[in-house]
Amino acid sequence: TMTDVRELLLSRIRDVPDYPEPGVMFKDITPLLADPAAFVALTDALSEITVRHGATKVVGLEARGFILGAPVAVRAGLGFVPVRKAGKLPGATLGQSYDLEYGSAEIEVHAEDLSEGDRVMIIDDVLATGGTAEASLQLIRRAGAEVAGVAILMELGFLGGRARLEPTLAGAPLEAL
Ligand code: AMP
Repeated sequence: TMTDVRELLLSRIRDVPDYPEPGVMFKDITPLLADPAAFVALTDALSEITVRHGATKVVGLEARGFILGAPVAVRAGLGFVPVRKAGKLPGATLGQSYDLEYGSAEIEVHAEDLSEGDRVMIIDDVLATGGTAEASLQLIRRAGAEVAGVAILMELGFLGGRARLEPTLAGAPLEAL
């Protein structure tokens, strides 16, 4: 059942206090990735969300969104598109900057990878403040594609990411396992 899946996944996520800086509880998914039963269960669950919402493409957010998104794309029979930190993609890109607690960051996608008619499912491991997901939603729409939804392993509810994303989601689903 889904309850069993959730318990399996939770049991394979390691809480690392004060990483990468004091006050942050880092959710380390490497134990989950190293456990084939848990990794397959996670891939299946994220694929189910992706297919259920009629996605035609999977976008993974650097870096752990690549690890989760790629097998989901293969499982769902869809193409995979990486959204990378600025400066990593060799072709013509579209960029979107967003604010961090201190300073700002920028993400990019190859412009030719997304177009009108695409329905994109965004995949990542953790939703924290929602800043990365918000910038990705904007990037995907600016590329001319439609958003099928956002599917993530874990939502840190106390950081308010879901509320922040609500206007940008504009009715698209945000599902956290
Ligand atoms: P945010 O933009 O604040 O929602 O942060 C989301 C991104 O940062 C995701 O790509 C996560 O992988 C990573 N992240 C943020 N907070 C954590 C955390 N406590 N544990 C693990 N990853 C995190």
